[in-house]
Amino acid sequence: MPRPEVLARPVETLPGVGPAVARKLSRLGLETTGEVLAHRPRRYESAAEERTVAELFGDEEAVLDVSVRRASARRRGRLHILTAHVEDATGEIRATWFNQPWLEAKLVPGTRLRLRGKPNRFGFQVSSYDIGDAVETADLAPVYPSTADLAQKTLRAVTEAALPLARAGGEPLPTSVRVAETLPLRADAVVGLHRPRTADEAEASRRRLALDELLTLQLALRRRAAERETLVAEALPPPGELASRYRAALPFTLTEAQEQAIAEIDADLGRTTPMQRLLQGDVGSGKTAVALHTLLRAVEVGRQGALMAPTETLAEQHFLTIEELCGELGVRVALLTSSVGARERRIVRQLVASGDVGIAVGTHALIQRDVEFADLAVAVVDEQHRFGVEQRAALAEGRAPHVLHLTATPIPRTLALTVYGDLAVSEIAAPPAERKPIVTAWVTEERSAEAYTRLCRHLDDGRQAYVVCPLVEGSETTIARAAEDEAERLRAHELRDYRVGCAHGRLKTAERRAVMAAFKAGELDVLVATTVIEVGVDVPNATIMIVQEADRFGLAQLHQLRGRVGRGAEQSYCLLVSRHRDEVSEPALERLEAMVATTDGFELAERDLEIRGEGQLVGARQSGLTDLRYTRLRADRDLLERAKSLAAELEGEPILEAAADRLLGEAAHVGES
Ligand code: ADP
Ligand code: MG
Repeated sequence: MPRPEVLARPVETLPGVGPAVARKLSRLGLETTGEVLAHRPRRYESAAEERTVAELFGDEEAVLDVSVRRASARRRGRLHILTAHVEDATGEIRATWFNQPWLEAKLVPGTRLRLRGKPNRFGFQVSSYDIGDAVETADLAPVYPSTADLAQKTLRAVTEAALPLARAGGEPLPTSVRVAETLPLRADAVVGLHRPRTADEAEASRRRLALDELLTLQLALRRRAAERETLVAEALPPPGELASRYRAALPFTLTEAQEQAIAEIDADLGRTTPMQRLLQGDVGSGKTAVALHTLLRAVEVGRQGALMAPTETLAEQHFLTIEELCGELGVRVALLTSSVGARERRIVRQLVASGDVGIAVGTHALIQRDVEFADLAVAVVDEQHRFGVEQRAALAEGRAPHVLHLTATPIPRTLALTVYGDLAVSEIAAPPAERKPIVTAWVTEERSAEAYTRLCRHLDDGRQAYVVCPLVEGSETTIARAAEDEAERLRAHELRDYRVGCAHGRLKTAERRAVMAAFKAGELDVLVATTVIEVGVDVPNATIMIVQEADRFGLAQLHQLRGRVGRGAEQSYCLLVSRHRDEVSEPALERLEAMVATTDGFELAERDLEIRGEGQLVGARQSGLTDLRYTRLRADRDLLERAKSLAAELEGEPILEAAADRLLGEAAHVGES
């Protein structure tokens, strides 16, 4: 019998976990014993030979069984270096540890140690050690995703303490299925994941857990699909006069990829089932043009469209972009954001309710909460990954419009089909033709002056630039202040001869609109900004971007930011400035290298999955259904197929259904926030 209450216990109930460790665990999202058990190792330590000191060879990783002769410590700058002379029956060697000052007291002469590490020209560089039981130095010791202040040693001990509770999860699969598919028990798989005896056992365990996860996802998707079948939308007639005037008014010809997407959307709009389509295309691929066509299809039959963005800045940006074109076409567009004054908002709401406004643009929260449409036919939801799944459903239920979701978060197509299994997918695979790939370079802080010199050359040529501020933690106000300070500093130094504006999330709507509009009109040379410019900002004359402390940003975020340049025909540049190499973590180095290596969003998405440990998608928390913990999307296609075919048979299995409830419930919860 499953005992969910055991897995819901706070981590502090585990032996050895006090408030300090609990706080660190909570930063990783680990609050309960169940979450600890579900924290999947990123990888395992490889098997290393046990050797004697005399047998050490080259720089081959090895495990030593030794005792301490003497130990001493010294400092070199910020580095604390601990050295111990250790020996076994065959000889003596000098072992070193960096930045572990507390260890010195434990290395009293005669102490038995197991050391794992590599010989180098100074002796033996220790990567892990055990005093007592061989846990850290064991073959296949798990390596967990962690934070800087939470050691692997601690995480391993916490997980170990939680393992006896593994059975509390119960067995979701009926014996018949388990036997037919030759799967281990779930509880054994949990143990095998954290403490595998062989690499095969680790993999078999992971795949068992992945199958459970995919089954849960399939059950949730089936329920959602069934709910949607009860909804009806009005079919729209084929594209008419307004749609052709729109094409004529566009300053460019639509690409083949855009035309293809439009054709797919038009086909959906002609049906009485509400459209639920995901339009994905890399940053700058031209999704907005397709979205506007879709909205105008509603307007041309006297009905309405809504364009919803995740942030106020993006809503305003969209508004500025489409207002111009719509003005030419005689279509009335209104902007609704929470920072629009109460009186103006009331007026706009009335115009939307009376049908005088053809297209309303705003943040999703606002449009869903406050606005009555006279006759909403089409909704476009930008950056879908930021929305709770339930929000999508709520929108569809209340009004049953046709819905188009846009996303630039590059998700490989196979993955999109899995994760958004209930959406149809269109893809703009190639950007407008004349684009040159953005040239990306990575320099460390010491050389940031060169980056600014280069940026100034662009400005002198009449181009514009972005400077993205370091990612700071804290409230919106703290972030805003840091951005203002940075803009001020740049105005006094590197950019003293130029017109510098600053954009962040704390500006009043009018101010922010003024800054964006001034930048767009070329009245500002440089926009210093926080990640508010991550999506949607479109200024083709901006050809160079500096991202400060780029090592702190996620890969998807860097890619989004980079997408702000390279939007015109000019060659564009993205300069990533990172902190000093020693301060940058290994995954961060890999991210920066990936950014330099490619501008292809789909390739970066795949790379991102590898670096994070596959399955942990960007925005996973936000979109509820995308939190695949155990599944390796490329390697586990067969599992996905099996999950699909098993789902019907397993409908009603209590543990799986409860997990599906949680999945859908979590999404609902996200939707409310
Ligand atoms: P996305 O929303 O996919 O990031 P946008 O729709 O904002 O991309 O388009 C990026 C830029 O490309 C805009 O400046 C837009 O005007 C331009 N653009 C869009 N479609 C075309 C096209 N077919 N030919 C040339 N330029 C285009
Ligand atoms: Mg866009």
